Amino acid sequence: MGSGFDDHGAVPAIYDRWGRERALAPAGKPAGHADVAIIGGGITGLSAACHLVPRGASVAVLEAREIGWGASGRAFGQIVPTLKHSNQRIIDLFGPERGERLIAAIGDGPDVVLGLIEKHSIDCGAVRTGLLFAAHSSSGLRGLEGYADDWRNRGAAVDVLDRSATAHVVGSDYYRGACIDRRGGHLNPLAYTRGLARAAVEGGVRVYVDTRVTRVARQGTVWQLALDGGELTADRVILATNAYTGSLWSDVARSLVPMRVHAAATEPMPQELMAGILPQAHPLTDTRRLYSGVRRIPEGRLHLTVDGPPFGRHTAPYLHTAERRLAALFADAPRPVWEESWNGWIAVTREQMPRLHALAPGLFAGFGYSGRGLAAATLMGRDLARLAGGADERDITFPLSAVTPIRGRSLAPLGIATLIQGWRMLDRLDERPPSAVG
Ligand SMILES: Cc1cc2nc3c(=O)[nH]c(=O)nc-3n(C[C@H](O)[C@H](O)[C@H](O)COP(=O)(O)OP(=O)(O)OC[C@H]3O[C@@H](n4cnc5c(N)ncnc54)[C@H](O)[C@@H]3O)c2cc1C
Repeated sequence: MGSGFDDHGAVPAIYDRWGRERALAPAGKPAGHADVAIIGGGITGLSAACHLVPRGASVAVLEAREIGWGASGRAFGQIVPTLKHSNQRIIDLFGPERGERLIAAIGDGPDVVLGLIEKHSIDCGAVRTGLLFAAHSSSGLRGLEGYADDWRNRGAAVDVLDRSATAHVVGSDYYRGACIDRRGGHLNPLAYTRGLARAAVEGGVRVYVDTRVTRVARQGTVWQLALDGGELTADRVILATNAYTGSLWSDVARSLVPMRVHAAATEPMPQELMAGILPQAHPLTDTRRLYSGVRRIPEGRLHLTVDGPPFGRHTAPYLHTAERRLAALFADAPRPVWEESWNGWIAVTREQMPRLHALAPGLFAGFGYSGRGLAAATLMGRDLARLAGGADERDITFPLSAVTPIRGRSLAPLGIATLIQGWRMLDRLDERPPSAVG
């Protein structure tokens, strides 16, 4: 039986063939016992697996479909050293000591990702170009200056660019200014996830694909995992199913709202044109409210995040909005020919912060990155490995909290959809020429 979030079809073909990391071949059906069973073959679960290898534990990863089937294999690919909220908000939420620790750890997230990639020779096109955030309005620019000041005060390499320097790195004079966060970069997220799986297997982890866990239950001193056609017991269990949790553990499923996020890639563009678009290959996002991501990917393609239906059945994204964005940014570019579009489910929590829970003795869960999970899920996997290995709270990045299902969760999609509709209208107004907006 599917989880209800399996309707979006195969992982992106563009990611599938980019680099040398291939899908893992099925390795039979699991049986017997593991010290640690990890449910979910995305970045959270596989980072946990890789971080458990040096501890010498026997580990089994159980993935319902294929490695990277969820959000991990479909992401835009930005390695981001921040969460959804400002540093001040994080301190307000967690207090100065815990908050500053979390901010510092998240700031180091790209180093942890790139460190794993280097250690395991993962071929995922990772480059630390820096992340380019551009301002579509003067208030947007003030916000970016505040971001840069705050991080620079913490010693991070973040620079503000004036209008002409921004035009130079974007290849367009559309924006008022920008900031470059030099800690970040981008990669092929499917290849990164597959590379983590390969590294885990090389470290002795048993990784099973096409293996859905249908039930997790305590039996005496161990956990019993019921599978499609099998059974496994484990001393400890890590739930790394994020937005795809479905009915497996209802308190987790009720603590998040799965939201569909869309992306698309063009066919290769003419070389002479691509030379002028994001010439230093920065991934670009801007200060508008909805999807603004643009980056270059191999063979002269552009990859965009695209607005589209956030809930409901699988359907095409609003490609015309992406075309309008490209035309405003790069006036000389021809209308793009779309090669592929896809979507995946992200997990939004009430406060839009990741959650780390000890759900029961020896049962841990980490989820809820609200669309910023390539680095955060890698760190979460490290936390989960440490907890499963017996470490205490002082050694982990994310605060352990009690599970808190969202009240009135069934209404959340309606609320979020209404908010998005408002943002859509505001972004549309902001598309007027910069002289006409504040
Ligand atoms: C279009 C898109 C763009 C994004 N862009 C970015 C970006 O640029 N930067 C960034 O930082 N983040 C981005 N994200 C978010 C990021 O991809 C996620 O936060 C992150 O990948 C979450 O990883 P995960 O391992 O926790 O979950 P997932 O990758 O979703 O993995 C969960 C896995 O659990 C498996 N599973 C579920 N139930 C079971 C079961 N019962 N038994 C066995 N297996 C099960 C699923 O099949 C799935 O493979 C984006 C997400 C999307 C969808």
